Amino acid sequence: MAVKHSSKQFIDGILSGDRTLLSRAITLVESSKQEHQDQAQEIIEACLPRSGKSVRIGVTGVPGVGKSTFIEAYGNLIIEKGHKLAVLAIDPSSSRTKGSILGDKTRMETLASDPRAYIRPSPSSGSLGGVARKTRESIILFEAAGYDYILIETVGVGQSETAVHSMVDFFLLLMLAGAGDELQGIKRGIMEMADSIIINKADGDNVKNSTRAQAEYKSALHLFPPTDSGWIPEVITASALQGDGVENAWEIIDRYVRHTTTGGYFKEKRAQQALFWLKESIEQDLTNDFYAHPEIKTLLPTLKDQILEGSLHTYSAAKELLKAYKNKG
Ligand code: GDP
Repeated sequence: MAVKHSSKQFIDGILSGDRTLLSRAITLVESSKQEHQDQAQEIIEACLPRSGKSVRIGVTGVPGVGKSTFIEAYGNLIIEKGHKLAVLAIDPSSSRTKGSILGDKTRMETLASDPRAYIRPSPSSGSLGGVARKTRESIILFEAAGYDYILIETVGVGQSETAVHSMVDFFLLLMLAGAGDELQGIKRGIMEMADSIIINKADGDNVKNSTRAQAEYKSALHLFPPTDSGWIPEVITASALQGDGVENAWEIIDRYVRHTTTGGYFKEKRAQQALFWLKESIEQDLTNDFYAHPEIKTLLPTLKDQILEGSLHTYSAAKELLKAYKNKG
């Protein structure tokens, strides 16, 4: 980083909504350098009391379903209604494909150029756990900077949905009519997490199919156990390209927030999520510390060989490694 700022400068900047300092602070969050991490933690701590006042929405669906087109339309609606919007991504494939989702500058063009919106591409490297943590820390900074709607995009093909689901208030699944669930890579688990399903590309010849798919998904969702919040997931059709159904999506999410706030569920879910991430952080730090330990580094390859030869049982190997780790000086 060319210019060094003090943590106080960062904190004051973020709290006053300074985009440049916000960007730089997020770069610190994403950095793997220890000194950057230390400063990032200091900034996050200071921003924590000013965070939390946003609606966090996860948007998922297979590549090509229309996520960025939808976010562009929906995001514009959000800012038209007087809000400030941040868009982040969790992209497990980005380290392999060099930044796919949100990486392409031509996506979400109008939103990207609007001062009321901030689009941040996915951190380009790291494990899912690492990326998830960086995203959660970025959310805190965005909220402290006054962004009151946070959209988190993820590709609906893998584990990242679970991570995103654990950090958002509302989980939106985009699907297409006519493509089988398997084709869409949508696992039952992901459908079960959805607070709303949008059948996108309901335009032209596709309108009829989309309406049929809407009915099918509606009845499929009825087979799932009722949600803790008492919310019944809504299934709607939309054409993100033409802007149809976007206002409807807004109303649904708005209704969800009112429904869950009234019953206290909104707060309760956030509290449960915080405890989940506490556990995740502990486990991740312990795991990193374990594998970084010099004794483990030397012992592990030998024990692995013995396991492969069949002369050592995995359980005994694990015990031996943990013993060596616990005895560390
Ligand atoms: P993503 O990969 O999920 O982010 O999908 P994109 O938003 O990039 O959309 C993929 C392609 O589908 C693009 O060519 C879009 O123009 C097109 N698309 C997105 N939404 C719609 C829609 O509602 N109707 C139609 N016909 N095409 C759409």
